[in-house]
Amino acid sequence: MEFLELAKVCDKVSRTRKRNEKIKIIAEFLSKLQPEEIAPSTLLITGKVFSDLEQKPLEIGYVTLSKALNAAKQGTLFQRKLSILDVKKAFEEIANASGKSSRTKKESILKSLLSNSSELERKYIIKNIFGEMQHGVGEGLLLQAIAYAINSSEEEVRRAYMFLGDVGETAKVALTGGVKAIREVNLELFRPVKPMLAEMTYDFEEPLREHGGKTAVEVKFDGARVQVHKKGNKTRIYSRRLSDVTESLPDVVEEVRGELRAEEAVLDGEVIAVGSEGKPLPFQELMRRFGRIREVQKKIKEIKLKLYVFDILYLNGKVLVDEPYENRTSKLYDIVGNISTAPRIIATNVDEIKNFFEKAIKEGHEGVMAKALRSNYIPGSREKKWFKIKSADTLDLVIVGADWGYGRRTGWLSDYYLAALDEEKNQFEIVGKTFKGLTDEEFKQMTKRLQELKIRETEHTVFVRPEIVVEVAYSEIQRSPTYSSGYALRFARITRIREDKNAYDITTIKEIKRRYLEQFKYKGRIE
Ligand code: ATP
Repeated sequence: MEFLELAKVCDKVSRTRKRNEKIKIIAEFLSKLQPEEIAPSTLLITGKVFSDLEQKPLEIGYVTLSKALNAAKQGTLFQRKLSILDVKKAFEEIANASGKSSRTKKESILKSLLSNSSELERKYIIKNIFGEMQHGVGEGLLLQAIAYAINSSEEEVRRAYMFLGDVGETAKVALTGGVKAIREVNLELFRPVKPMLAEMTYDFEEPLREHGGKTAVEVKFDGARVQVHKKGNKTRIYSRRLSDVTESLPDVVEEVRGELRAEEAVLDGEVIAVGSEGKPLPFQELMRRFGRIREVQKKIKEIKLKLYVFDILYLNGKVLVDEPYENRTSKLYDIVGNISTAPRIIATNVDEIKNFFEKAIKEGHEGVMAKALRSNYIPGSREKKWFKIKSADTLDLVIVGADWGYGRRTGWLSDYYLAALDEEKNQFEIVGKTFKGLTDEEFKQMTKRLQELKIRETEHTVFVRPEIVVEVAYSEIQRSPTYSSGYALRFARITRIREDKNAYDITTIKEIKRRYLEQFKYKGRIE
C-alpha cells in the first residue's frame, strides 16, 4: 500500500477528537493492509519507527534533516510513489548507516525519501523522525483498534500484546489469524514478556487492606530488572525494555548455568552492582556495565554484579503466569540452587512491614515490595497486586528540551524541561524544569546527547526528541497556570539517568494528578 494512505489516515485521526472515531479509522486501515505491511504501519502510525525489540536510533539531527529537506525541495519531485515498505526500508537504512561517512549516507537516504514524498507524506515522515505524532494515537488506542478490527475484546488483545512485547507483531497476529490466533498467544522461551509492575504506596497499611490482611514483603533492590530465559545450555537475559543484554552479563549467565536446577525456565529478577563487602552500589555504577558490550571482561573486574530472583513464569514446558504468587515462588525456591532470592517476610501487620522496610533501607536497598500471595502474574500491568514502598518520592520523566547554561555552565545544555506522558493524548507534557542533580561530566555528556536529538531551537533553548528518561525527586506538586499539563514540580532535582526506561515507560499525567491530590491527605488545602 502507498505511504500516502497511511499519511491520510494520520491526518484523518488528527482531525477528530472522538476516540471511537479514531479507533474505527485505524481499524479500517489495518484491515486493508498486506500481512507484511501491518507491523511497520502500526509503528509508523504511532511515530515509533522501530519496535521496542528492534530499538535502533535514527541519529538524524536537526542539521541533517534541514539539509535533506532543503535539497529535496529544490530537487525533482515525485520520481516514484512511496509505499509503506519503502519508508520502513529507508528508515532501516538510515539507522544502519554507520562508519565515517554515516552522516552523509543518512542525509542522502533521507533526501531521496523526502524528494519522493508529497507535502502530507513529508509531514508524517518528519513527525516520525521527531517521535511525536500529536494525533492522539498511542499504544492503548491502537490495541483497541486491533480488537475492533477482529471483533475481540481489548483485554484479550492486551494480553497477547504483553506476551508478544510488540504492538506491531500483535496487530499482525490479530489481523492475519483473528481472535483464535490472539487467544493462542502465550509465553514462549526466548521471547521476553513485559514485566509485571507495581503501584506506589506511601501507606504501610494499604497492602494489607488490598491483599486481605496478609502480604509478602520483599526487599526492593536498586538495580535493573532482568528476565532470564534458559533451555538446556542456552541462557539469554533480557532487560525491562526487552532488549537482549546477555552479552554484557557473562558472569550472571555463568551463575545461572551452574546453579539453576531446571531444564527450561523463565525467571524474573533484578541485577544490582555490589561493592567489596557485598553492599549495594549506586544505580549509576550498575549502568556502567548493564547493556554495554565493549570491554566487558575489563568491566567485570571493576564492577561486581549480583543477581536476585523473585519470580518464575515458566518451568519445564509449563507456563506459570496464571498460578498464584505463593505457588510460583515455592517452585522458584526449589530450583534456584545457590542463586540468591529476594529476602522476604509474610506480614500480617503494619509493624512487621515497617521494620522490614527500615532494615532494607539500612542495608542500602531502595525500599520494599508488597505482593498479594494469591495474585497471578500479569505481564506489563501495574496494579495493586504488587505495591512498592520507597523512601524517596520520585517520578520518571523525559527530557523534551534544555536551556543553555550561563556562568559556570556556559556551553552546556544544563537546564532541563521535564515532561510526563499524557496517555489519553499520547503526548508529552511539561511538568517542571531543573538544572540540579548532574555532575559536570554528566552535563557534558548530556549536552552532546541532546544536540543529537535536537528537533528545533531558539536562541536559548534546544528542543529534543523525547528519549532520555531521568528520575526526578521533588518537594511538592503544584497547580501550574504556565505549563499545559496543569502541574509543576517544586524543587525538582535529577536523581539518576534511567537508561533502562523508554519514553513510554514514564510517569503519566494521571499519576501526577493522583500524587497531587494525595498530598492533601497530609496538608491543608485552599480552594
Ligand atoms: P522504579 O522506578 O521504582 O524502579 P519501575 O517503574 O521500574 O519502578 P515498578 O514496577 O514501578 O517498576 O517498581 C518495581 C521495580 O522494582 C521493578 O521494575 C524492578 O526493577 C524493581 N525491583 C526490585 N526489587 C524487586 C522485587 N523484589 N520484586 C519486584 N520488583 C523489584
